[in-house]
Amino acid sequence: MKNSSIRILLLDDEPFMLKLIARMLSQLQFTRVFACDNGPAALLRVDSALDCPDVILLDINMPGMDGVEFVRHLVEHHFSGAIILVSGEDERVLQSVEKLVRAHRITVLGRLNKPVDPQLLAALLARWRPPLQQAGSVVRKTFSAGELGAAMIKGELVNYYQPKVMVSSGEVVGVETLVRWRHPTEGMIPPDQFIGLAEQSGLIDQLTQLVLTAALAQTRAWQEAGLSLRVAVNLSMDNLTDLSFLNYVVDLVSKSGVAPQQMVLEVTESRLMHDQRIALEILTRLRLNRFRLSIDDFGTGNSSLTQLRDIPFDELKIDQSFVHGACSNETQRAIFDASLGLAKQLKMESVAEGVEDLADWNFLRQRGCDLAQGYFIAKPMPAADLPAWLADWEVRRAQLVSN
Ligand code: C2E
Ligand code: MG
Ligand code: MG
Repeated sequence: MKNSSIRILLLDDEPFMLKLIARMLSQLQFTRVFACDNGPAALLRVDSALDCPDVILLDINMPGMDGVEFVRHLVEHHFSGAIILVSGEDERVLQSVEKLVRAHRITVLGRLNKPVDPQLLAALLARWRPPLQQAGSVVRKTFSAGELGAAMIKGELVNYYQPKVMVSSGEVVGVETLVRWRHPTEGMIPPDQFIGLAEQSGLIDQLTQLVLTAALAQTRAWQEAGLSLRVAVNLSMDNLTDLSFLNYVVDLVSKSGVAPQQMVLEVTESRLMHDQRIALEILTRLRLNRFRLSIDDFGTGNSSLTQLRDIPFDELKIDQSFVHGACSNETQRAIFDASLGLAKQLKMESVAEGVEDLADWNFLRQRGCDLAQGYFIAKPMPAADLPAWLADWEVRRAQLVSN
């Protein structure tokens, strides 16, 4: 698309800035540029059928309607174009505004700090693409408790396994069990779409039992094939409300012939617990029974630090939102380092989740994190795919841990 056909709206309260950027744009051959010095005027433009802008250069600090409020109005006015954020604020403020705009599903081409650099401006505008017609919004089907209950009985829940590897050597130490629903008509349903339902409808104990039973059988099969893997299973806080769950797990594992030391139980606290005492008792006794306990998604949720103080965890999983991209984001890096420091001081094994690329991997090596898990290493897979992946990994790993 030619620069001259892209409609650009400048919104800034300083007339001087408007003039300056308009001049830059005209030198870049953008000719359809319109300037506004206040939000309400800009919204009128957004509403016009013929002149609705493709791209808005938005100053986030304005008297009256500020940039963040303006974005909310853009959503109400169904704006389908893109935004470039402009501000003299520090990088962290710009980052959080960007997050907010994206959360509203508005495209952000990028951020510009004042004084605006013409080359950067040109580069950001070059990213603009006309919005796809009907950009297929993903339809999330909702299921009923009855459907989920029936699916469990029919054996439609299947375990996938994602490897956890040592950062220093690349050695595979274990896998995390991640459940999926193999739906006969809807395809593979990820757990985020039915774990909450299981928790609300009282099906979560049954679900965890299914997952655990299958994971134990798989661990045995691997053992017999000469593969000694630690196997992690996710527990819901709702599993920890009744002492009978403890007896069930201890019993099941002892009958399975798998050593509890080989089992890792991953716990998250995504909301407040009603009675912390029972959960605390169950977890402590699981630990006394030699199960390994892991605090999942560390750094998110309600009281990660309180949990860390009260529960004898063996492993700390740093949430993926602090891992992927940490090498280029100062705030993320600070949180990552603090979490890793806590794990080290408390003598817990550290695991980084969401390792998506080589930069993430190298960052972990540099920081001395113990274990890594993520798409860069392997996506979650059916147990049958593990041997082929292992063979592949042996080759890759040699390169990744050299030097
Ligand atoms: P989690 O325990 O934190 O598991 C990690 C999630 O991150 C998994 O999503 C995994 O597929 C995904 N993941 C792994 N590597 C990467 C990566 O490099 N990048 C990104 N962006 N994501 C990555 P999944 O399988 O969809 O599971 C989501 C959550 O559902 C899990 O988060 C866990 O809390 C829950 N869950 C899964 N299985 C069970 C289960 O059997 N019982 C319970 N109660 N919860 C489960
Ligand atoms: Mg987990
Ligand atoms: Mg996690």
